[in-house]
Order: sequence, then C-alpha cells, then structure tokens
Amino acid sequence: MGKIAVVGSINIDYFIETDRLPKLGETVLGKSFFISLGGKGANQAVAASRLGGEVSLFGSIGDDENSKVLKEKMEKEEVDLSYIHTVKDTPSGAAFIELCNSDNRILVVPGANKNTDVSYINRVVSELLSYDVTLFQLETPIEMIEHIVPILYDHGKTIILNPAPARKMKTEIIEKITYLTPNEHEFEMVLNSKDQMVDCLRKYPNKLIITCGTKGVAYFNGEKCINVPVVKVEAVDTTGAGDTFSGAFAVAISEGKNLFDSIQFGNAAAGLSVTKKGAQAGMPYRKEVDSLMK
Ligand code: ADP
Repeated sequence: MGKIAVVGSINIDYFIETDRLPKLGETVLGKSFFISLGGKGANQAVAASRLGGEVSLFGSIGDDENSKVLKEKMEKEEVDLSYIHTVKDTPSGAAFIELCNSDNRILVVPGANKNTDVSYINRVVSELLSYDVTLFQLETPIEMIEHIVPILYDHGKTIILNPAPARKMKTEIIEKITYLTPNEHEFEMVLNSKDQMVDCLRKYPNKLIITCGTKGVAYFNGEKCINVPVVKVEAVDTTGAGDTFSGAFAVAISEGKNLFDSIQFGNAAAGLSVTKKGAQAGMPYRKEVDSLMK
C-alpha cells in the first residue's frame, strides 16, 4: 500500500445552532455550541486515515490555544503530523458556522493556513517526495500548488486535486495532475470552460472525475463516458461528502485499485458519510465501507 500526503488547510470549526440569525448589531441566544476539527485538508486526511490509509498531513497551525486542540484531534485520528508547521504569533485557521434550521452562514479566517506557501513546501519537498500519492485542495495558496505539482509530476508521483473552493487553474498545471475531482458546480470555473460536461470529460480522459451529488460520478475512459452510481442511503447532512469522496478515492488509488473501483470505493464512503450530521462525524471507518461493498 502506498503512503498518502495530504497538503491542505487545518481549521477549528465553531458551530452555533440557532432558530434565528441576528441582524447586524443584534444579540440572539443560540441553542447549542460545539467545536470540531475542520478545513478541507484536515477533513480529507481524517477520511483517508479512517479508511486505512497511511496518511501524513502537510500544513500549518498557529501558536494559539486552538493549535493544541487541533493537534490532539488529528492525533486521535492517527494522522501523522511530523511536517506540520507551527507559525508564531498567528492564530490557527478558524471557521464560525451558524446553523439555522437547514441553512448555514460561515465566516472563515485562514490564519496560519496562509503560511502553507511556496517557502513552506520548499522546506518539506524531500519528505513530500517520499509519498506515493499527494492530495491537494484549494484552501491554501494556489502559488504553492502551481510550484509543487510540476516537481511531483517530474518524479512520477500520483497527484490528486480536489479543486474546492473552485478557482481557475492553469492548463499546464491541470495537465500534470493525475486526477481532478471537482463537483458539478466547480468544474466549469476550474477548467475555465463553457463547454458541456461531456465535452470537458472527453478533453481529460481518466483524469477529470466529476461528482454530481446523487446523480453519480462521471468520467471518460478514453472510449466512452462512464457514470458510477452512488449508493442509496437516507441522507441527513451532505456537509463533507466531497471531502470524504476525495479522501476515500486517494486511499483506493494508493492501494492500487483501478479508476472505476476507486470511484466506487469513494462513492460508498461518501454515501455513508451523508447518513450522519457533521462533516467528520459521518466519515466512515474501513469495515463499514467494506461491508457495504460486499
Ligand atoms: P460536494 O460535497 O463537494 O458538493 P457532491 O455533492 O457531488 O460533492 O458529493 C460528493 C459525493 O458524495 C458524491 O459523488 C456521492 O458519492 C456522495 N453523495 C452526496 N450526496 C449523496 C446522497 N444524497 N446519497 C448518496 N451519496 C451521496
């Protein structure tokens, strides 16, 4: 089995549940409050680790009280933190999430995540090159990704990019990425294309993997477009479904599974994740996915 490096954001998420959102200048009593580990990097690392991946997280935290909480939570998930950078006089990334009925409102402060930049990645490049699969998202500086992807590519590494939150990517970088996993709302912006989904898929055979919620996952295998159906579940909360898919997909690829089987594995894990409330609370463990796929 190959080792997985996740390079990405690490946040502390503060959740407040309320029946009504305050107006500007108003105070409203909330119903409940809880803290959770978040950020796409940490989420995908946790998803991959729970599914049996050997995972190291590359990223930055601050030197505040939250950094201790974040470290404890990630260690409990058996994510290796050897290359985490602790940034002085800087807060860890934090998200403030107001949950109101079935909707939410979120403010994110990147804090230390901004330091997961070109100079950081240059300091850990030789360690990063010892991993077989590297998984990125777009919550850390894009210049870092544009810098490191060609280096990983030249060393023949498998590179997965979950391009969320979506932003335009350079074509020469997309070409060097092994697998790109946007959702159906993200791919146009990422590819800077107005083409139909099928035309985009045809342009990037066995690379572009578009998750389409309950409609399945689409890719072009060089001959035809394939749709890998999702598992039928009672969805409770789809937060973190995309993160679970990408983490699970990375595990399957690191185990040498083929593309179709890796997507199926991702679908099973992501399907299970939506049956529980919260991004990480619903992320399944390996035996749950294996028994669903039997
Ligand atoms: P994102 O969470 O990034 O918006 P999607 O909505 O496409 O991405 O969801 C990612 C994956 O999660 C899907 O490809 C699918 O495997 C799974 N998924 C999402 N919603 C459901 C659902 N209601 N039932 C089963 N699987 C789901």
